[in-house]
Amino acid sequence: MSGAVEKIVPTRWIRGGRLLRHGQGGWQLEASDVRVDGDRIAAIVARDLAAPRNPVDIDGSGRIIIPGLVNAHLHSNDDFLRGRIDKLPLEVYMLMAVPPTGVFDIKPEDIEIRTLLGAIEGLKTGTTSFLDDCYHIDRLRPESIDAVMRGYERIGARAWVTANLSDRPISDTIPFVNDYLDDSVRQELNSVDRLPAPIALQYCEDAIRRYNSADQPRVRMAMAASGPQRCTDKFLEAIWEVVERHAVPCVSHVLETRIQGITGEVFYGETLIRHMARLGCLTPRTVIAHGIWVTDADIAQIAEAGSSVVHNPTSNLRLGSGVAPVGKMLRAGINVALGSDGMTSNDAQNIFLEMRLAGCIHNIKGQAFDQWVGANEAFTMGTEGGAAALGASQELGQVEVGMLADLCLLNIESAAYVPLNEPVQNIVFSEYGQSVSTVLVGGEIVVDEGRVVTVSESEIYGLAREAASRFFTDNREAFARLREFTPAFERAYARAALVDYPTNRWIPGE
Ligand SMILES: [Zn+2]
Repeated sequence: MSGAVEKIVPTRWIRGGRLLRHGQGGWQLEASDVRVDGDRIAAIVARDLAAPRNPVDIDGSGRIIIPGLVNAHLHSNDDFLRGRIDKLPLEVYMLMAVPPTGVFDIKPEDIEIRTLLGAIEGLKTGTTSFLDDCYHIDRLRPESIDAVMRGYERIGARAWVTANLSDRPISDTIPFVNDYLDDSVRQELNSVDRLPAPIALQYCEDAIRRYNSADQPRVRMAMAASGPQRCTDKFLEAIWEVVERHAVPCVSHVLETRIQGITGEVFYGETLIRHMARLGCLTPRTVIAHGIWVTDADIAQIAEAGSSVVHNPTSNLRLGSGVAPVGKMLRAGINVALGSDGMTSNDAQNIFLEMRLAGCIHNIKGQAFDQWVGANEAFTMGTEGGAAALGASQELGQVEVGMLADLCLLNIESAAYVPLNEPVQNIVFSEYGQSVSTVLVGGEIVVDEGRVVTVSESEIYGLAREAASRFFTDNREAFARLREFTPAFERAYARAALVDYPTNRWIPGE
């Protein structure tokens, strides 16, 4: 059941490779051998140290060794929905991914396969740590939490898993929607049989106790409040009590869209960031997903609170959400991580792609070019930034002695590295996972020669096709009904566009 049982891994050397380390001048390569004892990096020494050779050693020649990447925002519940939704903004798109009237049917075995499917793509593209903000669309229950955990455990990934919580009907979370809903539909949405908030919290806290108590759990439970406006104030406060009691990260979608910006003023008479701060929900454990439509005052408040922001550039473009002010956040001292977001809004789980986009998209705002976000910043967000968001800066995000041996080896016999000019730029701008040869999590090899070795990829793909087909068949009626709700959300979206907002995160129009 639990991640408590760590696999025994031997002492091994990675010899002959080149290690990317974060020094004064940014990320730089050095020729070093790395010794891994159990799950940790025990030594980094100049090449050719006369250490005994051992059959479990890894040949690092022709390899760049980088820290395992961190995907700090994803939703594994979306993993059967890849490629289904196009040209919709978040407020309308969400209806297609999360059913507003209740739940989809899915068995725990299929949830496990769904989790494995996404984790295969993540590991093969160098991600070793996942912050999976899971919407339990089957109605939250301990078995569904356990199924997600089992998926990550089986494949050997490091994961923080949440149960995405909210206690308000979706029509009450977006300004103006209720003005356009038929009475019968509004009543239906209001009378959805939700899991009572105390029980949902209890399930989360029980899972924290089950999974997080081991010495060095590889898979553990974190918390998530879907968004501040999606929860009552009382529920938000109760969630952060659990967060503080157990010292776990807490994810929340905040100011992802312009409408969410307006929401703060309409619902609370203050920005959503101020609202969270007032309720005690803006802390160093708070992981803000997106943070696009923040004001300058919000940025200052996030920096002061020490909260992290997860930047999801592909998803933000795909849903037309806007471009987050990442340069400004970094200059304010905010920790910024990277995420793929869900498979419905990306539709890939590949942090190399997010690093590349993060290293490009912030240069088009007409600011001085010394304020652009480049390769070094993007690589830091995908590694150290993610580790800090997880509260794991001492253990993850760099390759240094004493840290966990979560590593990714890139094969330089690849067009991306010929010639190898500025390594961090070669990686951020030319790599998309095609050169990943070996991935280790806690010293254990999980990807070898580009293939996952802990599970059979082809077997999981076969099972995932069957499980996805069952999912669509079993939920045919629920999917057919989703379009009934969209007109009211589309009208609310159009009306909100007419309301003034103090900042703009879209680029000038056609
Ligand atoms: Zn999200």
